[in-house]
Amino acid sequence: MSRSYLDFKAIRERVPFLGVLDRYHIEVKRVNGSQLKGRCPLPSHTSKEPDTFCVNTDKNVFCCHSDSCKKSGRGASGNVIDFVCLMESIQAYEAAAKLNEWYPDGLPPKPATAAEPEENRPLAFTLKDVNPEHPEFARAFPIPKDEGHPIIKASSVCRFGCMMVITGGSG
Ligand SMILES: [Zn+2]
Repeated sequence: MSRSYLDFKAIRERVPFLGVLDRYHIEVKRVNGSQLKGRCPLPSHTSKEPDTFCVNTDKNVFCCHSDSCKKSGRGASGNVIDFVCLMESIQAYEAAAKLNEWYPDGLPPKPATAAEPEENRPLAFTLKDVNPEHPEFARAFPIPKDEGHPIIKASSVCRFGCMMVITGGSG
């Protein structure tokens, strides 16, 4: 069987590490924007230390800090191709072919580093002196003709990232 040409560099850059972890049902915790850690899934891993397995989604690389993996001889760090090599005990070409099949060329890479959307946090301060005459306020909180006080639309709450309590009268 003739081997077709595989661009290892392109595969390393194209295939998101998170997607590969997903394929193997490996659970990791997010440490910060680009760092993940969890239990090491490598066959060479025998250490009982927790969370020695780290992935950097910016660089698209992994490593295991445990002695068991470091001493395994095959190394315990590298890119997505190295990772699949270790996971499946296969050669780099086979690993690259597998990744190429999972993520065919031409597909846009998944945004592996995209942070989960942060929820709107409550304001850390009290909103004061809101000017009801301000045109932006009128747009956000339109006052229906039949009622004396503004109605807060859900869309406005999302947009302003806050919740307001409007009390009638002198306030
Ligand atoms: Zn390990």
